[in-house]
Amino acid sequence: MVKVAVLVVAAGRGHRFGGELPKQYRTIDNRMILSRTLGVFCAHPAINYVRAVIHPDDLPLYKVASEGMPILDPVYGGPTRQDSVRLGLESLEKENPDIVLIQDGARPFTDFGIINKVLEAVSPTTGAIPGLPVTDTIKTIKIDGEKKIIEKTIDRSTLWRVQTPQGFTYKEILEAHKKCIGMELTDDAAVAETVGISTVIVPGSEDNFKITTTDDLSRAEQLIKSRPVSIRSATGFDVHQFEEGDFCTLCGVKVPHTAKLKGHSDADVGLHALTDALLGAIGSGDIGLHFPPSDMKWKNADSAIFLKHAVSLVKAIGGEIVNADITFICERPKIGAYRLQMVENLSKLLNISSNAISIKATTTEKLGFTGRSEGLAAQACVSVRI
Ligand code: MG
Repeated sequence: MVKVAVLVVAAGRGHRFGGELPKQYRTIDNRMILSRTLGVFCAHPAINYVRAVIHPDDLPLYKVASEGMPILDPVYGGPTRQDSVRLGLESLEKENPDIVLIQDGARPFTDFGIINKVLEAVSPTTGAIPGLPVTDTIKTIKIDGEKKIIEKTIDRSTLWRVQTPQGFTYKEILEAHKKCIGMELTDDAAVAETVGISTVIVPGSEDNFKITTTDDLSRAEQLIKSRPVSIRSATGFDVHQFEEGDFCTLCGVKVPHTAKLKGHSDADVGLHALTDALLGAIGSGDIGLHFPPSDMKWKNADSAIFLKHAVSLVKAIGGEIVNADITFICERPKIGAYRLQMVENLSKLLNISSNAISIKATTTEKLGFTGRSEGLAAQACVSVRI
């Protein structure tokens, strides 16, 4: 598996913006710009690590912006963007990712599509960045006192406006940054260019703009207003085999039985199905991707950890869980007596009202593996408001 890290550069003071508060900490529709930027990368299924580079004065603001997100501790930046990126890259030496994406903190509308295109185009020898062709006619000028006098018109066919995330092989861009200290380059593609790394452009999008001026802030507010609230539904399904034992853990509740469920973790089929449903609703892969069974760390793990992770990702992208419905499929054990306990447990884990949680059970009329009591299946359905 390719390991991908994202460095979100948010150390700027935003002098062009005016006001006391750096622009990445301004809110749009009640969410900080930086929270929006970080959340997208936290939830992307191919991204393993997210780290922000911040200004030391902003630590309290950053804590609010990143609250509850599964994210590495931030590091402090330097006097220029280029210094901040280098310090951020150096801080990832322990994680040692294969690929690093470098993202502007004040660019909150980067979507999974752009991230996917950049990731697909990065190779050990090539960087990739999103960009758009220049459509305005471009002139060069000379300044004569108050006047700006046109010198000539530039051929725009070879000019592109570039965006972030800018993706590179981690080792290559780290070395490049070390060689370019003090050169005042404005983006990472320029650093790559200086040391001879070839970089390709993949399609960016007009919405993937950076919030630099108060006009950009208004544009961002308009864009969010224009996007309708969406309700996303998704399902999850899980099966575990019975083995010798005397209880099953179902939705976090110990249910006495003449067998237990076999599994790497605590084999809680209910929580596994629910975790997959939540990940499905936000397009964030599946439970095996986030918690590989090959990883010894998850041996006998409490499956509430998996569910809490999925809940944190929903929250990271500004989503709210609307409801959850779980059906257990088995002849035995009988679920009825434990239903309320399961509902109360899920209400705490999902942080939603008990009214919005349903636990059901059915048999398969003695047919199939559940009918023969070889194992227990669970399916889950959730809705998430985004
Ligand atoms: Mg499972």
